[in-house]
Amino acid sequence: MSDFSYRPDSIRLPRPVDLAARPDLAAALDAVNRDLAATLPEAGPMRLMWTPSDDENLPDQYHAALPDGRWHGDTQDPDAACVAEAAQETVQAVLWQVWPVCLEHRTGVHADAGADERAVWRCRAGEGHELCEVGELAQTLPGKQRRALRRKERRREA
Ligand SMILES: [Zn+2]
Repeated sequence: MSDFSYRPDSIRLPRPVDLAARPDLAAALDAVNRDLAATLPEAGPMRLMWTPSDDENLPDQYHAALPDGRWHGDTQDPDAACVAEAAQETVQAVLWQVWPVCLEHRTGVHADAGADERAVWRCRAGEGHELCEVGELAQTLPGKQRRALRRKERRREA
């Protein structure tokens, strides 16, 4: 047998993150999925996956996957902002969409750590401003879109 023989146990496939064991990541994913449901429903709900490192000197990798399992990019030691960024990276690389967008400046915004470890969407246009906390994107929609969304949610609950 050569060193390059097929060893099934050495294949590193992404697997779902045990969210029960990581309530912080479960909350971060919920927040991103709320934003997707509000503004890009076809991309959600996403799942959080991880690929264990096969080298003890290298960290495990985390990914945000679309409902069909596709994902792009990875992050290490994720916090709420990293989860939002991973979801954003998947949307941009797999679906070729800029998401989310600041409606005022008509440009893509970026996940960032706000005060108290909160994840926020930050717009870099002009002097830059915080769009909203991740998970609160629905609040930034114009009234008409927000009302349509609430109607949709009520229908889902009914
Ligand atoms: Zn803006």
